[in-house]
Amino acid sequence: MANILFIQPFDFPNFLGQKKRKRFLISRAQFEVGYQVPVEHDFSVLDLNLAIRQKGSIPKAIEEATQSLNPDLIFLTYPSFPQGEQVALVLRCLTKVANIPVVMGGGAISLVKDAPLRWWPDMNISCCYSGFGKQISTIIQSIVTGKNQNLPGVFWAGEKPSEKGNLRERLIDFYKPEDLYSARGRIDFSGYVDDIRRVGFNPCAVIELTRGCLHRCSFCAINRENFGFFSRSPEIVIHEIEYLVNMGITSFHFTDPTFGLAIKKTEELVETMVLLQKKHPKNRFEITTRVDIISRKNALLFRKAGVVRCDLGMETMSEMELASVHKGFKREKIRKAVRYLAEVGIETKLFHITFPQKISIPTIEFLLELSRSRVPFLVQSAYLRGIPNPLSEPLFSNQDQKVFCRESDSIEQIMEWMLVNLAFKSINTFLHEPRFQENLRNALSQDIDLKTLFEIAQSNSGITLNLKADFDGQRYFFRHKRKTPFTWCFKKTS
Ligand code: SF4
Repeated sequence: MANILFIQPFDFPNFLGQKKRKRFLISRAQFEVGYQVPVEHDFSVLDLNLAIRQKGSIPKAIEEATQSLNPDLIFLTYPSFPQGEQVALVLRCLTKVANIPVVMGGGAISLVKDAPLRWWPDMNISCCYSGFGKQISTIIQSIVTGKNQNLPGVFWAGEKPSEKGNLRERLIDFYKPEDLYSARGRIDFSGYVDDIRRVGFNPCAVIELTRGCLHRCSFCAINRENFGFFSRSPEIVIHEIEYLVNMGITSFHFTDPTFGLAIKKTEELVETMVLLQKKHPKNRFEITTRVDIISRKNALLFRKAGVVRCDLGMETMSEMELASVHKGFKREKIRKAVRYLAEVGIETKLFHITFPQKISIPTIEFLLELSRSRVPFLVQSAYLRGIPNPLSEPLFSNQDQKVFCRESDSIEQIMEWMLVNLAFKSINTFLHEPRFQENLRNALSQDIDLKTLFEIAQSNSGITLNLKADFDGQRYFFRHKRKTPFTWCFKKTS
């Protein structure tokens, strides 16, 4: 029997809309791993998103948890590649407090495979595994007995990866929600939800019908390794929602990258959600999907099922750039999808990518048009980033989608980011200056180059973009400190 501690690194899932909605996204990974750890082992969870609010310090939270629980084995999840910095910090803390073997899984490992063994050779990483955790019980047995077993998708430190067989993936299915959320009776889920509320957040459950995607957009991490597309039974998802509702949760986020891609299963799921919504009208769902899934009929159905926000991959309204990333639809589809959603009262979140060559005028014009027609929307901007380096520890901050990196991003990208994220409601910044839309309209109607809206100041210490517009004595700036990944977008009294 082993005593296993699962660690969820901080800052993932992120606290979207933290200032106003204070939403705490409950990660699924801890429950999926716990569910797959055989019941003869002890299993507990240290969610650093919660612990940092309770203890105020990551090293302190890790030290206290390892001392009080005395684990034989740590499962550390590495959810997304740019989070490497947080994961490295957790590993450093762990090596300081105890000599406990670490097993790493998660979305990033499926992408970078055994790279963490090379990036962090002095940490106690025993193995990395990719996939959904089918190998967990064999990994534990290997570590407990000291005899490493070769399995597809498992990378042991100091050993050649197994070449035999393929990793056959399946999502966990046909489970009882109470077994999943309690890791088969080893986690107090209700107490965990209470703790989230106690630190002032509203718990939001992460649920999913599908994982992966069938499309091939060239920039998408999901496609880097052609992960495939997986789904589970709709009735299980419904049972899970009912279980979570009984726990007092009313906010749900479907993490399917393209909700609706499993057509029959989605129909079945949504039909039952519509009935459930009549019983629990306070439930609110957020989904993410492609614009070509949003017909007028689907939009109405989703609204009846309780969907209040739909995240859409707009990327850009520049036709050539859309085609260049193999998005597979033209911008007219985006326009229609947003309109259908607005007609039924669903807010749209538009994923937006900036491209190096130029500021996308069609994107700015489209957002101005939505704003003028009072369509409810917000934006989430990102940059095209290079592929991670598997050989040496990358500069993770250069991969971060929330900060600018002068080494990776062109001045036009940074300008477009600033124009979009200041003028329109945005997930990326709480600086929202709707009056700036008028400046944009004037500039576009007079055919003024949008780059001339900025003053660029370069100095030894870095670069500053100064937006040449004054709003009641307030001016907006972007600053990047030379040779560092540190950037700021801020306003100042002029
Ligand atoms: S549709 Fe979305 S999830 Fe699918 S490949 Fe394109 S960007 Fe990725």
